Amino acid sequence: MGRLVLEALGKRYGASTAVERVDLDVSQGEMVALLGPSGCGKTTTLRMVAGFVPPTAGRVLIGGEDVTRKPPHARDTGMVFQSYALFPHMDVASNVAFGLEMRRVGRAERDARVREALRLVRLDSLDERLPRQLSGGQQQRVALARALVVNPSVFLLDEPLSNLDAKLRGEVRMEIRALQRRLGLTTLIVTHDQEEALTMADRLVVMERGRVRQVGTAEDLYERPADPFVAGFVGRCNLVEGAPEGPGAFRAASGALLPCADAAPSAAGPSVLAIRPEHVAVSPAADGAARITAVTYLGAQTEYHVELDGTALLAVRPTPAAGDPLRRLAPGDPAALDWDRSVARLLPLAD
Ligand code: ATP
Repeated sequence: MGRLVLEALGKRYGASTAVERVDLDVSQGEMVALLGPSGCGKTTTLRMVAGFVPPTAGRVLIGGEDVTRKPPHARDTGMVFQSYALFPHMDVASNVAFGLEMRRVGRAERDARVREALRLVRLDSLDERLPRQLSGGQQQRVALARALVVNPSVFLLDEPLSNLDAKLRGEVRMEIRALQRRLGLTTLIVTHDQEEALTMADRLVVMERGRVRQVGTAEDLYERPADPFVAGFVGRCNLVEGAPEGPGAFRAASGALLPCADAAPSAAGPSVLAIRPEHVAVSPAADGAARITAVTYLGAQTEYHVELDGTALLAVRPTPAAGDPLRRLAPGDPAALDWDRSVARLLPLAD
């Protein structure tokens, strides 16, 4: 019913490509996040699903039906915009009723559905207020109610939390996720905030320059990134260019020899070694080959910036207890680095 399929969906503006051949299959009730840096094509993709941007290639299918040429109000979608896009001169109830009017739903049913939608987002007592008489979080809920009131098969969210302060964002994030689960809504959400994507979505789509880099669960992307872009975009990662040198060793371009997982035969040439900072152990060592360049105390964790034969690496460790020799490491000190070589993955050089 609410399955959403994108088939080789693309958008060109003249000579420039905003979105290039995106394939995606979102199951009924699944929440998928489009994640990527500014300008990578997230919003354009979402707007093609909603019907606001006509694709120049490919198809959009909702519940098996090809809706590529249908106008927005004839698609079974509800969309929440970053700006909320509320009508300033209309009260809350009228804002929420708008989509039903567009669909020519009768007065009695319309009123009942507006009440139900406002109850869902816990705004039932504020139906006569104007948007400017509401807080940012309340306005955001009106926008949610307005999208939900049409009982969409597919729910589309475009950076819905970016205008909220950090605390409210965390709360609303959980509310949206709970609502989405309870209503079993097939959902596509656009965000450039990786924490938002990791905590809310069942699967994530990492985009870059109009292309899909990888689709997977948060664990897939964090633990098995397909390429250096994904490794560096989802969480932090040490990325060292060089080439494998014999089994279990990697020669960095700077000359440092680093332990790594065994290379697949296909990864014999130039590649990138990827190691998460939490996997790098650092210890004081008078004869150590590494040198501490900076130490940043962050409460529960401490970051150590280290240089090893011309290669800069970051280690993030639980802050050692007072009295632990590690606690006294300071810039300029020699140190030893260590990691389990299986966690140092070889990735293909970025294309
Ligand atoms: P952001 O996170 O900054 O919103 P985004 O990933 O959502 O970015 P899009 O808004 O989808 O990116 O834009 C993708 C690319 O398409 C960008 O390079 C943008 O400049 C271009 N683009 C978007 N809309 C148009 C348009 N109407 N005309 C020409 N180019 C456009």
